[in-house]
Amino acid sequence: MAPLSVSVENQQRKETTMSAIRIGNGYDIHRLVPERPLILGGVKIPHDLGLLGHSDADVLTHAIMDAMLGALSLGDIGHYFPPSDPQWAGADSLKLLRQVNQLVHDQGWHIGNIDSVIVAERPKLKPHIVAMRDRLAEVLNLQVNQVGIKATTNEKLDATGREEGIAAYAVVLLTTAP
Ligand code: MG
Repeated sequence: MAPLSVSVENQQRKETTMSAIRIGNGYDIHRLVPERPLILGGVKIPHDLGLLGHSDADVLTHAIMDAMLGALSLGDIGHYFPPSDPQWAGADSLKLLRQVNQLVHDQGWHIGNIDSVIVAERPKLKPHIVAMRDRLAEVLNLQVNQVGIKATTNEKLDATGREEGIAAYAVVLLTTAP
């Protein structure tokens, strides 16, 4: 079998192409409890239960931040905003998102697009998706069409299906192009 050889020029071109995009994924889940607000994507959603957490427990925003950090191998939000630190008690997760976005920008990267899924049995999230996309796009200085949010139930299966919590998944593509 012939040895695998790539010209120096080709190798450099490949490395340039490789460094132009990075991808990250994030996941988070928080418990649903009484007497807490339900905040998703920075939007307060009317519901009889809310998410429990040290901050405002905005599970969608947390998943997106972890995806942004993950794309640059910068660790996770627990490292930057540890639950043990009282300054993050009740924190507005959008403020944390602004800081993570600044970190990404400081490293020379920009968000290409975000795609995300919220897993919640109740309440119906469809009426709130536009508001969440608007809010996140505003905070991240993006076009709304760069922020994808989908919602699904868990078909009554497992913890999210039993309404014990709400989970969120996010994928973020970063690019070096402005
Ligand atoms: Mg969280």
